[in-house]
Parts: sequence; C-alpha cells; structure tokens
Amino acid sequence: MSKPAYDRVLLKLSGESLLGKLSYGIDFRTTQAIAQEIKEVQALGVQIAIMIGGGNIFRGVRGTDEGVERVSADQMGLLATVMNGIALQDALEKVGVMTRHVSAVEIKAIAEPFIRRRVIRHLEKNRVIIFSAGLGSPYFTTDTAAALRALEIKAEAILKATKVDGVYSADPLKDAGAKRFHRIRYIEVLKRGLEVMDATAISLCKDNKLPIIVFSLKKRGNIQRAVMGEDIGTTVY
Ligand code: UDP
Repeated sequence: MSKPAYDRVLLKLSGESLLGKLSYGIDFRTTQAIAQEIKEVQALGVQIAIMIGGGNIFRGVRGTDEGVERVSADQMGLLATVMNGIALQDALEKVGVMTRHVSAVEIKAIAEPFIRRRVIRHLEKNRVIIFSAGLGSPYFTTDTAAALRALEIKAEAILKATKVDGVYSADPLKDAGAKRFHRIRYIEVLKRGLEVMDATAISLCKDNKLPIIVFSLKKRGNIQRAVMGEDIGTTVY
C-alpha cells in the first residue's frame, strides 16, 4: 500500500459537518461516523489535529443580526465549538482513539489550555487533538484559527472538509456551468472572492505556503483519500 502524503495534518471540521440530517445541533450518529473515519486515518500513522467549528449551534454574525453585541455573540459562538469538541471527543474515545481536547478559552474542567509544545508531544504520542474555541478572541473564525494552529504545530496541510467536493468557479448548487479547480493559487481565491475559507485564513496560509486541501466529507473515506494525496477535491497552493 502507498504511503500517506502527510505525516501531520490539521483537519478543519465545520460545525455543520456534525449536523447530519438535522437543521440544528449535533447528530451523534454522524459524529460517530466521522470519528470512525478519523480512526482509520490515524491507523495509517498520520498525526491529526482537528479544529472544530460551531456553526451548527451558533455563529456570532447571527447574534449581531438580532442585535446582540458582536463580542458577546462571538463568545457564544466560541462556546458552541466547545460543545462540539466534547461531542467529538466522546465519539473518538468510543472507537478507541486517544484524544486531548484543547480549548483556546480557559475551561479547565473540560479541556486543556493551548500549550504548543505539549500539543506537539500529544501528537507524537498518537493522541488526536481537538482544538475548540477557535483562537479565543472575537472577530475571528475557526478557519483562521485552523490556519494559525496548523502553522504552530507544523502541520503539512490543512484538510478543509466541506459540503462540496472542492473549489468551483461559481456556486455548483446554483450554476450548472461551474467548474471544479484541481489546483488553484491562494491569490486567485482571494481575487475571485471564492468561498474556501475567509480571507484572513487564506492570507495566513499564503504567506506561509501552507496548502489547503478542500474536499467533501459527504463521501465516506474521503478524509483518508485526501491524506493519501488522491485528487478528490481542490488544492489551494
Ligand atoms: N469564533 C470566534 N473566534 C474564533 C473562532 C470562532 O469568535 O477564533 C466564534 C464566531 O462567532 C463564529 C463561531 O465562533 O461564528 C463559530 O465558529 P465558525 O463560524 O468558524 O464555525 P464553522 O463555520 O466552522 O462551523
């Protein structure tokens, strides 16, 4: 069998990836299925850190739309990611994967604080890291947090799991003529305003030459395919 393309990756899971068929909250079956996939990838010898989003429960901008102050709304969003982190940790442990939940907001009874060297040590000991609470500061997204943490822990790529199988020239759900890019430069993503990750995250990856592999989580086994370097989505480089 061929070798994985990466030794250490940062997997960005949006909160939506835990929705399953629900329109709100956490679908535990879906979470369990993702955990099983992560276990299979880890069995290949790949070190995995996950940045978990919170959009399935709460997004800061939604709060501000309804008149909540932005910082308060983002704090609620941050806590939503911590809930998802707990769910994911539980699911991973159920399939026998050792984990450490690391929150950027101090919440000692639930998760460890972020200490870079300690996190790297966990990874070396084959513990899956679940990062929650983004960067712990408002006005950021978990995409930007994913980019920063990936750099800090020296991940070789960000695996950005989404609903669509890559980056398209237009919204494939609305435009039948939309084409999928196999590879696209960071600058093109920024110029065209393509919805891959927010501009702060893309810029950080661009400045530090950190590749982003965008792929669909809907097809089972895709995390493994992405790690093996198969052409299943779009590489932003
Ligand atoms: N958030 C924040 N700072 C961060 C990361 C996240 O304030 O560093 C808040 C923000 O309100 C965001 C919410 O947490 O809307 C959930 O994160 P995100 O929208 O990135 O989740 P995803 O879209 O990946 O599910």
